[in-house]
Order: sequence, then C-alpha cells, then structure tokens
Amino acid sequence: MAKKEKEVEKDEKPVEKQAKKPAAKKGKEVSAEKAEKVIPVAETPGVSDADKKGKTGADDLSVEQKLTNLYRLQTMLSEIDKIKTLRGELPLEVQDLEDEVAGLQTRIQNFQLDTKDIDTSIGQQRIKITDSNALINKYKEQLDNVRNNREFDSLSKEIEFQGLEVELAEKRIREFTVESKAISEEIVKSKALLGERQIDLKSKKEELDEIISETKIQEEQLREKAKQLETTIEPRLLAAFKRIRKSARNGLAVVYIQRDACGGCFNKIPPQRQLDIKLRKKIIVCEHCGRIMIDPQLAGIE
Ligand SMILES: [Zn+2]
Repeated sequence: MAKKEKEVEKDEKPVEKQAKKPAAKKGKEVSAEKAEKVIPVAETPGVSDADKKGKTGADDLSVEQKLTNLYRLQTMLSEIDKIKTLRGELPLEVQDLEDEVAGLQTRIQNFQLDTKDIDTSIGQQRIKITDSNALINKYKEQLDNVRNNREFDSLSKEIEFQGLEVELAEKRIREFTVESKAISEEIVKSKALLGERQIDLKSKKEELDEIISETKIQEEQLREKAKQLETTIEPRLLAAFKRIRKSARNGLAVVYIQRDACGGCFNKIPPQRQLDIKLRKKIIVCEHCGRIMIDPQLAGIE
C-alpha cells in the first residue's frame, strides 16, 4: 500500500514540472507512442498519460472515453454544487418569514397596548364629565338659595367653567375614539397579514424540510455515482481535473466549444485547435484559462 502511494507521488511530481517545460523537451522523456497520447504541455498543464500506471484499468480507455467520463463527472459535481446553493438560500427565506411574523406579532401587541392606554384615558375623561356634572348640579341647587349678586355671578361662572370642562372632556373622548378606531383597523390588517405570513411560513418550512431530505438523498446518490466514476479515471488525470475545477470560479473544469470560443473563459480557439479537439485524440486545455476542452457533440450538445 505504501509503495503504491509512493508511486502516485512520483507520478504527480512530473505533472507539475511538465506544466512548465516546453512540449518539445517533454517528448524526449516519453516514448514516441506515448508522446502521441500525452497532451503537449502548453495545451494541458498538469494533464498527462497514465500509461505508466497500469493500476486503475483507466489506461485501457480511449481519450474520447476519458473525456466523456470527465464530462460526466463534472456534470454530477455541478449538480451537487447546485443542490448546495439551493439549500443555502432556502433557510434564509424561512428566516426572513420568521422575522416578519415576529415583527407583526410585536406590532399587534404594541397596538393592543395603545388601545388599552386609550381606553384608560377615555375612562378618565368620563370620570371628569361625571364629576363636572355633579358639580354643575350642586351649583344649580345653590343658585336657588343665593343671597346676593356676587354669589350668583360666582356660581354662574363655576357652572359655565364646569360646562366647558364637560365639553373639553367630550371632545377628548371623540378624539380618543377616532384614534382607537384607527388602531383597531390596523390590528385587523396586521392580524390578517400575520395569518397569511404564518401560512406562508408553515408551507415554506415544510418545503424546506422536504427539500433538505430530498436533496440529501439526491446528493448522496450523486456522490456515490461520482465516486464510482472517479475510479474509472486515472489518478493523475483526476487530480488535474480537480485542480482545474478548484481554481475555476464556476467549478467547471471541462467545457465545450461555444461559438468557436472556450466555454469557460470565452476566448477564441484557433480553427486548427478546434479540429484537434473534435478529433478527441488528445486531452486539450484552453491556453487562457486551463480548462479541458471538448467538442459540443461529446457534451451531448447539438
Ligand atoms: Zn478558456
């Protein structure tokens, strides 16, 4: 086992070197037959033959089959990426709804407190009216027994004053009632909205749970498939693939030609190189972005 690992290591190192050496020099290192299969360095940094390996059985595969496997692997990995993104956004949506529901509940509570305060104020104004009316009645009784004009004027002024107090209190009650009615309407509206959001939240939560459990199975299946597929790809090619994928922003290590350009960085590909790609005899990478390039037919496009 240890020996095997060492061999892999040995094989990995030249990959790095090859990437920096000119193609011509590399040709000397491998046999003519192998040089044919090995991708010229400038075209495929890090990607090379596994003919020396003879361990995975992957070397029995044609370049076309290797490219097909790589593209299939990438499709699976992209699918896993997509699932992760999807799962990453859904909990946020649920969180937003939960925040909104909590906000509405607080709002309703505050409105209800306001209504209570207003009711208290109205009660206070009513007491004032009762008190004033009692005073008015008392003064009116006293009016019948006044002894002089001064007393009459004084009582009349008091009655007038208490009358104004009653009017003022009634005015306040009317204002409070209007305010209370407006708040009651807001409470009704908020409660309706709260009801809607709670229904939304419930279904979103269920959706989220479903998606989480669904995608978990989906992801596991994809991972299992990807793992199996990886065993058919020679370790060095797989390592190169993973390295390219890691450095590619969209996670694409294998791209097909789109409108005469690299499907990854969209730089133009010369016609001769396009022809080479279509021949599927070599693994060719984009000289601009380093992604492995295939023809659209191989990707199942067109
Ligand atoms: Zn490119």
